[in-house]
Amino acid sequence: MLFNRLRKPKFAAVKVSLFSTLQHAPTQVQPLEKSALQSLVLSHYRHGKFQSLLQNVVASPSLLLTACHNLRKHAPDTPPPPPLTLESVSTHYFSLQELSFQLAKNSVDVESCCISLFPAESRKGKRLVLPNLKLKVILEAVRIVLEVIYDDRFVTFCYGGRANMGRHTAIRYLKNSVENPSWWFGVKFDDQLFESRHVDNLCLMLGEKIDDSDLLDLIRRLFECKVVSVDLGGVCIGRGLPQECALSSILINVYLNGFDKEIQELRLKTNRENPRFKENELEPGETGSSSVFHKPLKIYAVRYLDEILIITSGTKMMTIDLKNSVVRFLEQELDLKVDRQITVIHSAVSEKIEFMGMELRAVAPSVLRPPKTEKAIRAHKKHLRQKEVRLMELKNAKERNRKMLGMKLMSHVFKKLKQSNGFKFDFQIENEVREIFRTWSDDVVQEYLRSVDERWEWHRMLSGGDFLSLRRIRDQLPRELVDAYDNFQLQVDKTVEDLTRRCIKVEAPIELIRKAVKMVGFTNHMGRPRPLSLLMVLEDIDIIKWYAGVGRRWLDFYCCCHNFRSVKIVISYHLRFSCILTLAEKHEATKLATIRHFTKDLKVSGADGAEEVYFPSEREIKMMGDRNLWDPMPVDGALTMALIRLASDEPHHRCTAHFCSKTDTAFYRIHLLQNHLHVNPLDEKKWVRGMGAIHDSLQRKCAPLCPDHLSEVYMGRLTLRDLDCTAFVDVD
Ligand SMILES: [Zn+2]
Repeated sequence: MLFNRLRKPKFAAVKVSLFSTLQHAPTQVQPLEKSALQSLVLSHYRHGKFQSLLQNVVASPSLLLTACHNLRKHAPDTPPPPPLTLESVSTHYFSLQELSFQLAKNSVDVESCCISLFPAESRKGKRLVLPNLKLKVILEAVRIVLEVIYDDRFVTFCYGGRANMGRHTAIRYLKNSVENPSWWFGVKFDDQLFESRHVDNLCLMLGEKIDDSDLLDLIRRLFECKVVSVDLGGVCIGRGLPQECALSSILINVYLNGFDKEIQELRLKTNRENPRFKENELEPGETGSSSVFHKPLKIYAVRYLDEILIITSGTKMMTIDLKNSVVRFLEQELDLKVDRQITVIHSAVSEKIEFMGMELRAVAPSVLRPPKTEKAIRAHKKHLRQKEVRLMELKNAKERNRKMLGMKLMSHVFKKLKQSNGFKFDFQIENEVREIFRTWSDDVVQEYLRSVDERWEWHRMLSGGDFLSLRRIRDQLPRELVDAYDNFQLQVDKTVEDLTRRCIKVEAPIELIRKAVKMVGFTNHMGRPRPLSLLMVLEDIDIIKWYAGVGRRWLDFYCCCHNFRSVKIVISYHLRFSCILTLAEKHEATKLATIRHFTKDLKVSGADGAEEVYFPSEREIKMMGDRNLWDPMPVDGALTMALIRLASDEPHHRCTAHFCSKTDTAFYRIHLLQNHLHVNPLDEKKWVRGMGAIHDSLQRKCAPLCPDHLSEVYMGRLTLRDLDCTAFVDVD
């Protein structure tokens, strides 16, 4: 009672302030910019903690509108839709004002916002709980607030679920910053869901920064309803599956932040104990060879959501100790279960390790330097030729000038000679000149000897056996000897670097990709392209878009890999020709006739008759390289689903993409790959290891989609996570 009475006045105040915003200027509520968002959250920071966030921040109409905007995705090549307003959301979807009041009172009925879907009877499995659009807005609003509070507090090696900190950024760090890895291990969690004790832990951790029992209570209820879940060690994060929400990612990061800090502390301690020498800090006698071999002990870490990779440049024993303490921390402090069979250390050089869907191995630098292409060699030769010609021209010009000067002198002397009737030789002058030169050179030598640096440089070059690099000495030796010496030096440098330096090679798991290509049916048992029967009922343009979606996802995902060429071949050859063969079989035409019609670039006429290209052309694929830094989505969602338009005309519904108000929709039935192939995704032998699958309960559900968003789904840019799956319908 006392509790209630204490809180009542607060609510009244909130109500008044919200009402006043709504009454006075309902049109003025706008989505928040980042800075406004930050100051809104920070204005509730008192006594070291954030207070009453749910009431005053999450519940604020402008923040809810920001969340709506974040959820809406529009196709990049279409005109942007009109901005959402409180009114437009309230008329078409649900009342944001009402939601705002409910949140302020913490009286949102979470359970009524969840829809449970059950798998088809033939296969028993767990139910799938999905949030409706209103609950998705709440989840996003909570995520936005947590992001403002926590993003600066996460360590630099915490990737995933953060802006500009995705898989490609993590790989760039591994490639560029990790030196001489010797041992490494990845932490694999035992497949486990977050249970209530973990949620209690999480709330304690959140409570360290957030003093708001209402917000923590809401988060707890989200877990209880199973609408937010964290499955560590599973394959359900970051793939665009319908049950994913961005809130889980940030909650994982909060949960593991204590672990990150522990590792960070350890890294800094190791760095302090094993300082790196700069070359000029070493004693003169120690440079040369020893600086090449000097390797300070280092620990590196990368965490992408629940995937953890720890690398050391130390000994095996030291790495085993490190692994044991990491496992101990995760199990004892964080109450997580680590799969000890898989969490073992590996030699970085002789064993590859899987991380974020890619394979890593430590190799000598020369392995990574790819041989030059024909074109590059030709360009280099041309450049050398041009340089030689320019040098020649310069030399000729110099010669010409010197001759002219000489002629002038000659004519001058000749004139004098004629005027004075013969020379008078005076040898005195030669001695004087010699004297002047001697004093000059003495000065120069004195100056040299005064400078310690100069002397040290001479000493270094002479004592290091390196005198052949001295210009003065080189000029006096035969050209062949100097060239041979230079060549030898180059080889030595390369070999020493190759023997001592190790860097990380990142590869796409090409065997798994080939297995996926075969499982889906892009190729036959001989590895040759074949048609896909699943897609034959689609329009030509949709068949091409489906292939383009799969191909582009793969190209995006693996563009940072050193064997990107192999992935390109799979797309450019296997997928392209499988698409051509599917089109050929659909139209009962020959392969050649199909290529003549669509060309190899798979050109197709769009709605307005203009030719359009969706599948990346051979040339485009050839030019692709490592340039993406956003977090790429794995191909799972695009590869394991096809949308097939219903033959019957259903009444128009609103599009199921978030906040798309279009009603010129058609119904599309979801066909899942696993049902088409009759393969259980949990069967590791038949399914592709590490590849996720869309939940069985969505098989044969029908989604109303507008043409723009349908195209986006086909192209793999929109996933089921971006659709309101609770608005799907059953049509017989
Ligand atoms: Zn739409």
